Amino acid sequence: MVAETIKSFCGDRQTTVCRICGETLTETTVTSGQQPYETTWILCGACGSWSIGREPDIERLNAFYSDYSVHHKMAATNTDANDGKRYSDEWRETREREYRLSINDIGLELEQGKDLVDFGAYDGVFLDVCRATQPNMGKTTAVDYPREDTLHLAVRGHNFEPINEWLAGESLTDIVTLWDVYEHIADLPGLLTTLSRRVKSGGQVLIQTPRAHVHAQILGPQWHHFLPVQHLQLPSREGILRQFDRYGFTAVQVASFGANAPGSIIPQPYKQLFDTLAKLGDLGSTQLIRFVRR
Ligand SMILES: [Zn+2]
Repeated sequence: MVAETIKSFCGDRQTTVCRICGETLTETTVTSGQQPYETTWILCGACGSWSIGREPDIERLNAFYSDYSVHHKMAATNTDANDGKRYSDEWRETREREYRLSINDIGLELEQGKDLVDFGAYDGVFLDVCRATQPNMGKTTAVDYPREDTLHLAVRGHNFEPINEWLAGESLTDIVTLWDVYEHIADLPGLLTTLSRRVKSGGQVLIQTPRAHVHAQILGPQWHHFLPVQHLQLPSREGILRQFDRYGFTAVQVASFGANAPGSIIPQPYKQLFDTLAKLGDLGSTQLIRFVRR
């Protein structure tokens, strides 16, 4: 029964090539999580990214995310990256502060009249922060699975578009943001093809995603981005830059932050020291990249 549940989320087919760069994977694996959510990732020797060990069953993953809150709580782990905690009401202020910092760190200029699409917008808090930063932006669109409270987005001044409709759409946009979402995407080539078609020449794509780097090597399963079921790929910087280049995007700014030092375990002032060193040295556990469409 338990084995069936895992298989239904992660599929039957063993992953043999890197989901980021397409090269053959190594023998190095990391396994994290408890049954029935135990998940294995495999290292790419060519670009340093990690790919989930079994090709995900997209229909089951879609069901998982459409019932987001329930499954996120069930798949909970004891880290600050636990999405059940991150997306709770008591964490909203923390998220808003993080979003403002990241927007600043990556040089996202929210110009008057420019349209912005937030892909994987979930509850729309990132768009709220963008609008608060630049009240005269153009259209702001949340793209995600329809949820009960999707109407709340309209009240807050955002449009809503279901994921599949946006992926199939044609109209051009100025800015697309993917905040904490790239690592969850089952069909990366499909998304990248859509981005290359729908982002204007000179338009921008901004990404915040885990960065496979020394943290993964040293911490192994304790690296908080080895998040069972949900994280399908964990890109190195080199891997993701090469991947986007193939679809017509040039990286114009990169940054990283976070020392994977949970506040519940690492006391201050050491946590602040570790996090500051990670950011100053560009050795962070989470990366920010600003791409421009050529
Ligand atoms: Zn690779």
